[in-house]
Amino acid sequence: MTPFTYARADDAADALRLGQATATAYLGGGTNLVDLIRETVARPAALIDVTGLSNAIVETQGGGLMIGAAVRNTALAEHIGVRTRYPMLSRAILAGASAQIRNMATVGGNMLQRTRCTYFYDTDGSRCNKRAPGSGCDAIEGFTRGHAILGASSACVATHPSDMCVALAALEATVHLHGRGGARTIPFASLHRLPGDRPEFDTVLEPGELITAIELPPLPFAANSTYRKVRDRASYAFALVSIAAALELEDGRIKDVRIALGGVAHRPWRASKAEAMLLGGPATAAAVHAAAVVEMADAVALRDNGFKIELTKRTLVAVLGDLAGAAA
Ligand SMILES: Cc1cc2nc3c(=O)[nH]c(=O)nc-3n(C[C@H](O)[C@H](O)[C@H](O)COP(=O)(O)OP(=O)(O)OC[C@H]3O[C@@H](n4cnc5c(N)ncnc54)[C@H](O)[C@@H]3O)c2cc1C
Ligand code: SF4
Repeated sequence: MTPFTYARADDAADALRLGQATATAYLGGGTNLVDLIRETVARPAALIDVTGLSNAIVETQGGGLMIGAAVRNTALAEHIGVRTRYPMLSRAILAGASAQIRNMATVGGNMLQRTRCTYFYDTDGSRCNKRAPGSGCDAIEGFTRGHAILGASSACVATHPSDMCVALAALEATVHLHGRGGARTIPFASLHRLPGDRPEFDTVLEPGELITAIELPPLPFAANSTYRKVRDRASYAFALVSIAAALELEDGRIKDVRIALGGVAHRPWRASKAEAMLLGGPATAAAVHAAAVVEMADAVALRDNGFKIELTKRTLVAVLGDLAGAAA
């Protein structure tokens, strides 16, 4: 392990000041970063502990929720406003990791956790463009059961691992950032990148930029929402496919719908094509299946992950069927 210094920031300004030096990394709960350091995938010279940033969840004037970056995953999942108004978010968080890890993990860290591609962590024997740009990708012709079927590139076929982020994509959250150029906000959909030919960049964050909060918009129909995660084990496993969805019906027709997919791409995948097809139509299994077929039309299977295409379609039919039943 490379030696590093440690300092704790009191607030965002303090974190930015401490984070000026090169090769610094912000430390949330450490549940991903510490593993990356142990495996020498990450070699920061300095760690800036940002768990002293806001850990509050407050109502916004517009009727949404502002969630501080240091809020622990457990606290967010258990918050009564999240459970009742955005149940997909609560369920997504509770579908991830273990209770102990969720108690430690922060909202900011969850958003920036790195892929679980095993070749990425294998510093001894595997080529990985994300870890060592230009070195190649041993996953593409390797074991690809957990890898991407949408939006991948010839440089990287990794998936984004977060469950929470799939719900944030469906809810159209806003990310609050603080960097050397000041504060800014970006839509959650813009935060994570597709790999293209630069898979070493997971997000659009500038060097040293800090996540300070995530904002949920008011979305009354999200009270009828859910998250379903399909995985190899019932707990403590990352998603093969997951779906965050919300549904509103009016006179038996779909008035509004949100769908985001996890486990299929380098970032949470908003199923915009499926949503567009469903709007105004019936919430029947046949209609949802037809929309899923359109959404997955560009999916590309690797050696071991072709099953994800059909699995996504079937899971979407099941999830929207449940939400339609609850809304009727
Ligand atoms: C065994 C195991 C199983 C898991 N299973 C799942 C699962 O099923 N589903 C799932 O979604 N997750 C799973 N996880 C991942 C877990 O959710 C993440 O490790 C956790 O959310 C990361 O949060 P953290 O606060 O510990 O981040 P850290 O590990 O502290 O940091 C992660 C990254 O975020 C950066 N960072 C942290 N805070 C900020 C900030 N405010 N601004 C800018 N950068 C910041 C760090 O520099 C680092 O790059 C699992 C983890 C483990 C170890
Ligand atoms: S899929 Fe991406 S993360 Fe995995 S080995 Fe290839 S380049 Fe690295």
